[in-house]
Amino acid sequence: MHSWPSPAIPEIPGRNGPIHIFDSAHGEVVALTPGPTAGLYVCGITPYDATHLGHAATYVTFDVLGRALRDAGHDVVYVQNVTDVDDPLLARAVRDGIDWEVLADRETALFREDMTALGVIAPDHYLGVTESIDGIVATVSDLLAAGTAYRLEAPDASSPDIYLDLAQAPGVGSVSHASREEMLALFAERGGDPEREGKRDALDPLLWRGARDGEPSWDGGDLGDGRPGWHIECTVIALANLDLPMTVQGGGTDLIYPHHEMSAAQGRLISGEESFAQAFVHQAMVGFEGEKMSKSKGNLVLVSRLRADGVDPMAIRLALLDHHYRTEWEWSDGDLTRAQERLGQWRAALSRNGGPSTDRLITTIRARVSDDLDTPGALVAMDKWVAESLSADHSANLGGPGLAARAIDRLLGVRL
Ligand code: ZN
Repeated sequence: MHSWPSPAIPEIPGRNGPIHIFDSAHGEVVALTPGPTAGLYVCGITPYDATHLGHAATYVTFDVLGRALRDAGHDVVYVQNVTDVDDPLLARAVRDGIDWEVLADRETALFREDMTALGVIAPDHYLGVTESIDGIVATVSDLLAAGTAYRLEAPDASSPDIYLDLAQAPGVGSVSHASREEMLALFAERGGDPEREGKRDALDPLLWRGARDGEPSWDGGDLGDGRPGWHIECTVIALANLDLPMTVQGGGTDLIYPHHEMSAAQGRLISGEESFAQAFVHQAMVGFEGEKMSKSKGNLVLVSRLRADGVDPMAIRLALLDHHYRTEWEWSDGDLTRAQERLGQWRAALSRNGGPSTDRLITTIRARVSDDLDTPGALVAMDKWVAESLSADHSANLGGPGLAARAIDRLLGVRL
């Protein structure tokens, strides 16, 4: 699947040190220690509705992380999936009387436009589930052959459903540390089927769904016709494109359980590696009018709608960066107003003849970003430089504004 055009990353003097970030699995800030190449996997969208600000916050957060890793001297291999066939997408297509593929293509295209506008660096590997069927079939077949997956007949399906025998996967619980009760509740809430009769364990995740009337299906060889379950797609796409342990698996906090727990458990089981990712990193939920922004609640603030209203995408990006990724917050018009004012101030300073030295600015932005992605702190550093620039004549240092602009572009993805 084609991704989107990546923005150029400007060069600035120096380099960042190690990146420290909160690992949900260990419950503490850890120093990332990739080798020359850092592997970053961020779970992608299910394309049945347009990109809302909660999504945008996630992808901007991991864009800043990718920039920080590059600035620390690593090459970054960035992988992202698109869940372009799954129950919610199919349900929406039926509801709206539209072909599911047309819906998925349309919303994926809009996502690409939003990411391009927000200055997000494109993934190196951007893969839909529908492009990954062969690998998923091979993997599920291997699990069946190894006895770690099992078939379960379904009366309404032409071939059996296939589940992972989770009891045989080591280390389940090491990502979320959820209790059995919490797991059962979250599994039911987030696409699982704990009530399904005949499963060896209520929490066993679906690997392959046998073909049903009215649902798309693919030739699964010995599996029979069907389509992939949700978690196995990310496991297979990650294993095909990244060495384990990858540096970071990322997504929203609503993916910790079951999605990241299951994809990691499957990844360890299939690969035999002890660890799926060095760190599991999660973006807090963004709310609107008192509730988590979500498709099911219908309280979405869409990036594309803001853009259509003439909002500068860099103001949207600044508004997102002004909230730490681990803090839940609610979007309001005030966020946008503040970001637009800030953008205006920054542009005024950068258009002056000369500016203050950027040494401290660059050092501070690097320090803030490498300290658990403290983007609000990085913005404050730029505010200080801007205030200093606007308060006096700095025409003796003509290179200042150019270097400041390159620094905030390179490190924060804010283009002015
Ligand atoms: Zn995923």
